[in-house]
Amino acid sequence: MHKHHSALGLATTLSTGITGYEIAKQRPVQAVTLVRPHAAARAARFFTEKFPGRTMYAVKANPSPDLLRVLWDAGVTHYDVASIGEVRLLSRTLPGATLCLMHPVKAEEVIREAYHEHGVRVFSLDSLEELDKIVRATGGAEDLTLCVRLQVSSDYSKLSLGAKFGASGADVKPLLMATRQVADSLGVCFHVGSQAMTPDAYAFAMDRVRAAIVEAGVVVDVVDVGGGFPSHYPGMEPPALERYFDTIHRAFENLPISYSAELWAEPGRALCAEYSSVVVRVEKRRGNELYINDGAYGALFDAAHLGWRFPVTLLREPDSRAKEMAFSFYGPTCDDLDRMAGPFHLPADVQAGDYLEIGMLGAYGSAMRTAFNGFGSDETVVVEDEPMVSMYTEAAPRVAANVVKL
Ligand SMILES: *Cc1c(COP(=O)(O)O)cnc(C)c1O
Repeated sequence: MHKHHSALGLATTLSTGITGYEIAKQRPVQAVTLVRPHAAARAARFFTEKFPGRTMYAVKANPSPDLLRVLWDAGVTHYDVASIGEVRLLSRTLPGATLCLMHPVKAEEVIREAYHEHGVRVFSLDSLEELDKIVRATGGAEDLTLCVRLQVSSDYSKLSLGAKFGASGADVKPLLMATRQVADSLGVCFHVGSQAMTPDAYAFAMDRVRAAIVEAGVVVDVVDVGGGFPSHYPGMEPPALERYFDTIHRAFENLPISYSAELWAEPGRALCAEYSSVVVRVEKRRGNELYINDGAYGALFDAAHLGWRFPVTLLREPDSRAKEMAFSFYGPTCDDLDRMAGPFHLPADVQAGDYLEIGMLGAYGSAMRTAFNGFGSDETVVVEDEPMVSMYTEAAPRVAANVVKL
């Protein structure tokens, strides 16, 4: 990562108070990603200190090596990986980390390499076929922690993960019993869906876990509540994370499991959403539509395809005095799909040549960028100001100035 990329003429040295405004003054031609290591470190410390169990980072949310090192330095020692690419990345980047391969459907070659070459001992599964695969690929290893993934409702989340994975119905009992025979340590895991808007999502899932344990009559050593911990976006203001932790803790304490059983979580979004934002330039305005230089194929996949709104700020000095109005965005590529409906609220006098900062893109934003149509940029700048909104501060100063008006 470049503190300031010279190709953009961003010659300023990093100093306290670097903000999106200063980046905009450099008039970069391509979109610039702003990263906030302090925000990711704060989120990680919040989880490692307050979550009543082990915090594992779900790497797919943002696999940037710089971010991985920030999380490691803030005390996150366990990483949820899903592919051999992520396994190798973590082995390379954080050789001391404990890796857990939590994708329930894996290639046998992947399991073999993960176990024999990268020391992976934790695997998830949701079928007897996958259990057989794990046994074959590890040569009947006796040091495995195997987490059976249960299907649970995604009804309380903004993004479903409920359809694809997870054992359900009559399959659960035989799978738990067979896995118990093989595993040194038996886990049960689930995922309530991403951006869970209420702690009840976890309460209901834990009821499912309880029923499964009782029915199968197995000793369970690990309960892994997965990801889904929310971040703060316009129109999606979740309760405090402590409420989620309390709900989970209470449900965990009431499970029929041994006193030594461990509680794990796999937050992705919650640890990295506040890590980055993007500075874009308005290339054209047509009524209430702004043509900007990042979009659906860049960091704004969720804004385009899920219709999510993100906080936006006009980076103009002095500040515009115009009243706010609702805009939609077009990204830079040549197709109509590259459109973000918003609404994004900005001063009514926004015009071509203005710069905007789009916040909260650290999770599933940077991770999904492509170079489609020759657009897309790797320019990254470390900034020290606060993210536009935060789950981890009482009130970030910029909320009052720029976002609360929405
Ligand atoms: C995606 C994923 C996560 C992270 O989910 P968030 O909603 O980003 O917290 C955790 N665990 C598994 C198995 C996942 O697939």
